[in-house]
Amino acid sequence: MAGEPQDDCLFCKIVAGHVPATIVRETETTVAFRDINPQAPTHVLVIPRAHHRDVATLAAEAPELAADVLRETRAVAEEDKLESYRVVFNTGAGAGQTVWHAHAHVLGGRGLEWPPG
Ligand code: C5P
Repeated sequence: MAGEPQDDCLFCKIVAGHVPATIVRETETTVAFRDINPQAPTHVLVIPRAHHRDVATLAAEAPELAADVLRETRAVAEEDKLESYRVVFNTGAGAGQTVWHAHAHVLGGRGLEWPPG
């Protein structure tokens, strides 16, 4: 069923506390933690607690939860006092998605070029 935890999902395991992560914020519906392979001084992932495979699925199946994730990206940027930052949802293998549980990357603390590679 949509949103149910998946046994083989790394981010569901982080939500459950079975895999360690440096958690920076938690709400009833979301978790934010520092990326283990940071690409910028601030690199935080914001995920819904519920399992949705990517942001497109999340937006279709649970639009209010998608809004919660977006709200939390702003909260992370405020906590790290970022004036400029980038929010990225890699969607699909060709775009670099490697973990199949929707997540927003919040990147900041350095200059960010456009377009990204
Ligand atoms: O967009 P993509 O699916 O590639 O992003 C997955 C991210 O999850 C990567 O940036 C990776 O470094 C991060 N990650 C993590 N903690 C893990 C495994 C992966 O922060 N235990």
